[in-house]
Formats: sequence, structure tokens, C-alpha cells
Amino acid sequence: MLDVFNILFERYGRQGWWPVLAANADKKSRGFEVSTGAILTQNTAWRNVEKAIKNLSDKNLLAPELILKTSVSDIAECIKPAGYYNQKAERLKIFSEFFLGEFDKLKEINTGKARQMLLSVKGIGPETADSILLYALNKPVFVIDAYTKRLFSRMLGVDFKTYTEWQDFFHKNLEDIEKQAEMFNEFHALIVEHCKNACKKQPLCEKCSLSSICKAKIPNA
Ligand code: SF4
Repeated sequence: MLDVFNILFERYGRQGWWPVLAANADKKSRGFEVSTGAILTQNTAWRNVEKAIKNLSDKNLLAPELILKTSVSDIAECIKPAGYYNQKAERLKIFSEFFLGEFDKLKEINTGKARQMLLSVKGIGPETADSILLYALNKPVFVIDAYTKRLFSRMLGVDFKTYTEWQDFFHKNLEDIEKQAEMFNEFHALIVEHCKNACKKQPLCEKCSLSSICKAKIPNA
């Protein structure tokens, strides 16, 4: 597992996720923007989320208090590029209420309890909760997404059925490393980068830096 991380890190360098609009945002507004991105990225590509977040920022709505004061239809109009905009606008309002009341508590409690609290919010599933825990709260949870499953099922031939099984696989294999949250942060971002560059739906195996250790390498792909 670590060899994969090292090869990808050498190939792509530090990714510095999670990308936020305001480079000088304070911790709280950064936490809200990351959480907003984690909700908006459900079922859509990140480039669409960037447009939606910029729209929210341009309308001065990138704060939970302001989301709560704004109608669902106005929020939906801003986040249209991210798809499922009515549903996501409702989710943003529900999450904004949670953020104002509970978000600071998440920092103080253990990761398992914080995860349970996030999962109890309507519209927050495991991948979204884990993205918030890792990228907004610096808690050591490995985020499992479609890219992670694609790369590791091809490369190692593993095929887990559930989100929890996938996540346990990473947690067990990376349990002894230091600075876990920082490493999980980089590793997930590197997986995404690699899947965009080489391990695409149609993999570019001949250009792949992991080809020497990949079980699924397709000659001349
Ligand atoms: S060798 Fe091909 S299938 Fe394997 S990780 Fe690289 S691009 Fe993906």
C-alpha cells in the first residue's frame, strides 16, 4: 500500500487538498466551504462544483447564516451547475443548521462519534461524512470514492462489496503510519489525480507509473 503512495507522490507531488476559493479563509469558513463542496460533489464532477461554489461566493452566500436566510430556490439557482440542485439546496440548508449548532463539537470528540453525528444529518452519507472529517476536520479517515475503487480493484484485484469493507482495507493496511490524517489526505488526492491522468475508464496502462505492480495492466492499452 505504501509503495503505491510513494510512486504516486513521486509522480504527481503534493496535491494540497481540499481546494478552496478563499486562500486566506479562517478555519471556520474553510470548514464550511469544504463541507459545502463535499455535499455538492455528490454525483457530479468537481469542475461543476467549482462553478457552483463560485456562484455562491459571488452572491455572498458562502456562509451558513446566509444560506439559512436564503430561499431554497435562490440557492438552487446558484448551484445549478452541480446538478440535483433542488435536493442539494435543501441539503445545504439542513447542513447549515447543523454546522452552526454542532460543527465545533466535532473537533473535540473522537472520530467515530463525529462520524455518527455527521451521518445523522439528512443527505450526508459515508463518502460525504468522511470527506468532511478528513478535509475539514483533519480526522484520520480514508475517503472511499469511485476513483479509489477503480484503481485498487484493477491494481490489486480486490473487490469489496461495501463502503465499510473498502475503508477497513485501507485503515488496516495504513494503521501504523505516522500523521495519518495528512497521509490519507494526500493519498486520496493522488488517487484521484492518477485516475484522471492514467487509470481512466479506458486505462492508459503504457503511460502508468503503477504498471509494474498492477495486476490488471493491459498491454498496449
Ligand atoms: S496499469 Fe493500467 S489498470 Fe493498472 S493502474 Fe495503471 S492505468 Fe490502471
